Amino acid sequence: MPTLLVKNIRTLVTMDANRREIGHAALLIRDNIIEQVGTTLELPQTADEVLDLQGQHMVLPGLVNTHHHFYQTLTRAIPAAQNCDLFNWLQTLYPIWAKLTPESIYVSAQMAAAELILSGCTTASDHLYLYPNGSTLDDEIRAIQQIGLRFHASRGSMSLGQTQGGLPPDSIVEQEADILQDSQRLIEQYHDNARHAMLRITLAPCSPFSVSPDLMRESAALARSYPGIRLHTHLAENKSDVDYSLATFNMTPGDYVESVGWLGEDVWHAHCVQLDDRAIQAFGKTGTGVAHCPCSNMRLASGMAPIRKMLNHQVPVGLGVDGSASNDTSNLISEARTAFLMARVRELDATAMTAREALELATLGGAKVLGRDDIGSLAPGMAADFIAINLDRPEFAGALHDPIAAMIFCQVNTVDYSFINGRKVVDRGQLTTLELATLVEKHNHLAAQLIA
Ligand code: ZN
Repeated sequence: MPTLLVKNIRTLVTMDANRREIGHAALLIRDNIIEQVGTTLELPQTADEVLDLQGQHMVLPGLVNTHHHFYQTLTRAIPAAQNCDLFNWLQTLYPIWAKLTPESIYVSAQMAAAELILSGCTTASDHLYLYPNGSTLDDEIRAIQQIGLRFHASRGSMSLGQTQGGLPPDSIVEQEADILQDSQRLIEQYHDNARHAMLRITLAPCSPFSVSPDLMRESAALARSYPGIRLHTHLAENKSDVDYSLATFNMTPGDYVESVGWLGEDVWHAHCVQLDDRAIQAFGKTGTGVAHCPCSNMRLASGMAPIRKMLNHQVPVGLGVDGSASNDTSNLISEARTAFLMARVRELDATAMTAREALELATLGGAKVLGRDDIGSLAPGMAADFIAINLDRPEFAGALHDPIAAMIFCQVNTVDYSFINGRKVVDRGQLTTLELATLVEKHNHLAAQLIA
């Protein structure tokens, strides 16, 4: 198996059990797995391939994105949805999304993944919950396998159309029996529960206002009949979402998910902006995770999630850029910075989150939320997912005494190198797995067709 030596790293952020930060560092990778971590002097001096970073770069574990809707890159900044809150925004966009095709799902997934990878993401979860015009989750899986991102593909679903009291139009919802059947097919066809897996399947009914309690229960039962299948949905995103829950189920969002069996270490919920204290305690006790999406929450005026409180109660928290129509970017480094700033504003406390805590949410936090102990840190036996950032750039000027904090305090947008599963996917700032200009052109053509 081929070896790769990355040497003369100026600062290596391991996120290991001791949170070691190593100067003059090196990494030895064998095939797709990290074999040794230490100083350049301690490690072997050569390997099949050597990347000499010449003391200019910081190296970190690849970042983990825990919530996204890749297809929404096609509908960013749509004028009619620019100034809407959650429900109005959804109702404005549903008819446009009803025109998605297998090709637009494929191309938009690659566009979102490209932006994620260039901003340091090496593992992402995506939540696809509508399948118009013959689209399937397979379209997205093929796209992501080509670009080389480690992927948790969520089989999302909507079954409750407007005539049944749900929010989406009837034309884009599915029958529950079909949803469950397709979920089972996808699990059996694609789910890899092995360590260092590149592809796992999640079951993800879209939200309490677009599926029935029955589908929530049956999805959980199906997921739990296989090893390693996780559950994901949107929860308590804003006040209207809480009002819907109270009016429809006579329960708070926290009580509702408990009633359908959606608490546990195999579950994570997106947003949780309006989660009450009782639910936060229940999430902490049961190990139920949260995907924190601060940019989207500000963009849709949903509010500020009580992340400090969740962390104090041992709730697993990861970051999510959320769909590209409500952020409207897929920049994960920027999301970490926003999470850091938002925590301080929400608590009116400058100690509410440190820069290193924000980086931890973006790495180890995301890994935990996705149920993984093989990514999120750089240590022997972990997957070879890491990024390198050249510090000789304007963003770090004047901050070289603490580049790790500077990664969050200063606005950094792109990485210089990214390796995923030992494969170099970014080389000197350029994607290696597909041609970006062609992708952007194809993507823009499809986006124009959608809104025509
Ligand atoms: Zn979402």
